[in-house]
Amino acid sequence: MSELTSLTLASALDGMAQKRFSSAEVTDAFLAAIEKANPHLNAYVVVTAEQARAAAKASDARRAKGSAGPLEGAPLGIKDLFCTEGVRTTAGSNILGEFSPTYESTVTSQLWRDGALMLGKLNMDEFAMGSSNETSAFGAVVSPWRRGNQDAKLTPGGSSGGSASAVAADLCLGATATDTGGSIRQPAAFTGTVGIKPTYGRCSRWGIVAFASSLDQAGPIAKTVEDAATLLQSMAGHDAKDSTSLPNALPDFRAACSRSIKGMTIGVPEEYRVDGMPEEIEKLWAQGIEWAKAAGAKIKKISLKHTKYALPAYYIVAPAEASSNLARYDGMRYGARAAGRDLNATYEQTRARGFGAEVQRRILIGTYVLSAGYYDAYYLRAQKVRQRIAQDFRDAFAEVDAILTPATPSAAFALGEKSGDPVAMYLNDIFTVTANLAGLPALALPAALDAQGLPLGLQVIGKALDEESVFAVSAALEKAAGFSVRARKWWL
Ligand code: GLN
Repeated sequence: MSELTSLTLASALDGMAQKRFSSAEVTDAFLAAIEKANPHLNAYVVVTAEQARAAAKASDARRAKGSAGPLEGAPLGIKDLFCTEGVRTTAGSNILGEFSPTYESTVTSQLWRDGALMLGKLNMDEFAMGSSNETSAFGAVVSPWRRGNQDAKLTPGGSSGGSASAVAADLCLGATATDTGGSIRQPAAFTGTVGIKPTYGRCSRWGIVAFASSLDQAGPIAKTVEDAATLLQSMAGHDAKDSTSLPNALPDFRAACSRSIKGMTIGVPEEYRVDGMPEEIEKLWAQGIEWAKAAGAKIKKISLKHTKYALPAYYIVAPAEASSNLARYDGMRYGARAAGRDLNATYEQTRARGFGAEVQRRILIGTYVLSAGYYDAYYLRAQKVRQRIAQDFRDAFAEVDAILTPATPSAAFALGEKSGDPVAMYLNDIFTVTANLAGLPALALPAALDAQGLPLGLQVIGKALDEESVFAVSAALEKAAGFSVRARKWWL
């Protein structure tokens, strides 16, 4: 029943509600699809087939009794940064060894509370540091997309590359992901899927392996804007276990997707027109503006003056927080240990062997910018820049309801193409890091194909706590774009 795997979350939930098929059938179809695709795509690091089948059976029984939750029976993939009780959690790193959490993250527990079930854990860049999935200790993830008829392996983006690849290749109905500087939106843009990073604090960070705590946010990657709204509804909400979790009531995200954007004002920031940006990205952006106008929105040019400082500020703040967060991996408490002659040698060997090159680079940069003598010059200044960037957005949102930009400065690149050049890799995040620094909700949606047949994404940024406008504008653009191309399943 392979056609079951190509359903959207909304149509799969409908089909199960109408008893056209069961969760057990949908789950089996996904497990069969994963078995065929995963040797080629490497999207899942752990497949929990038995648990998934058992959960699907239990879900079908609940539905039969008339107690179906809003995600009842929906098989999802979980980024391997979320702690899952009794299921190995790796964060894409060797340093966690065979770590199997004794507790469940808040976000995933809310998905299960609402009836969803887990197919397995999804591959990712090590500790979510990367933009191509090549820093994973478990090997790169391959995108189902290819350039024309070429068979070069392309990146699905990162760090949530497993999530994006799995959704694009029909290996789950939707996936969880996290975004510290773009890791939901960039992979979504590279794979023709939809990803939203909500307002900082909307989703609890409890039970999510920390990268940079003031920037990290969870969110879904899905096939449509509406599916992303449905998943976020379950993932978000206040949690006393995360002191940065927001107490605000959740609006109806799905309802917001059918709200008209007539009369809304959409800002277009000049500063997002960067040097060397391919013409196709310019064209995509211009097209997005036309679609918004045609749907009745007003367009306003805005200025986000400090945009050019966002990337340097991010690559100070994020490594600084990472160097502190990752201090806990010392080979003593849990995870892998490489025993040395004394305590210091054990620390050194554990961390030298357990962390990959990119993670070590971040720890070194982070430690450097936080050290006495450099703290003021780097870390403190980056924090000041961060305030300016947030203020730019506040000023802009006094005049506009949402902001429209391209999601990435290019389409997906080939594996190996940028992995030798960290700065080229960091430049992928140029349009996405600003929303993390300012804590704002931002969504990437597929809007067009480039000349080589690869998806390109638009980004909609909203005011803090105004995911509703983000969903409304994104759904309007999605409708206008009519993007329906799917990656060819070349592995079958
Ligand atoms: N690519 C960015 C980085 O490497 C963002 C990663 C993320 O959002 N987790 O830090």
